[in-house]
Amino acid sequence: MAKLKILTGTDNKILRTKSVEIKHVTKIAKLIKDMKDTLDAKDLGLAAPQVGENVRMCLIRLNPSTKSETLVFMINPKITEMDKEKEIGEEGCLSLPGLWVNVERAKKITVKFLDTKGKEQILMLERLNARIIQHEVDHLDGILMVDRAVFDANAGLR
Ligand SMILES: [Zn+2]
Repeated sequence: MAKLKILTGTDNKILRTKSVEIKHVTKIAKLIKDMKDTLDAKDLGLAAPQVGENVRMCLIRLNPSTKSETLVFMINPKITEMDKEKEIGEEGCLSLPGLWVNVERAKKITVKFLDTKGKEQILMLERLNARIIQHEVDHLDGILMVDRAVFDANAGLR
């Protein structure tokens, strides 16, 4: 079991670099295993740059805390459709420990990716699942949630 070190900070160079597409799925077998070992039970997602690799891959926990919870690796994920309808929700990030910000995301998305066997998959996701994907794909483009933080006028009233 190899738990990888998670990079932190809004100005970390690797976190701020646009990651490259993966050409040979077989070459990343070790990274896949190590990323799985690194994701704790409560974590919703992890992108390769967060563990120091600027390649387009992320690990997503779909349907967290439900009976249908599953871990899905997405290689070269591409959001092909984004619903116009958006919603604001609170997000955290393993690379920005202790920070929670409100981010506006599309409510529904379609994402195309390769699975760990190199087979193309397409998923239509909504709400929290869609939010996790948008957050992780942002990591592959060097974007952090603080870049998208929105002011929530109701925050102080709760
Ligand atoms: Zn993150």
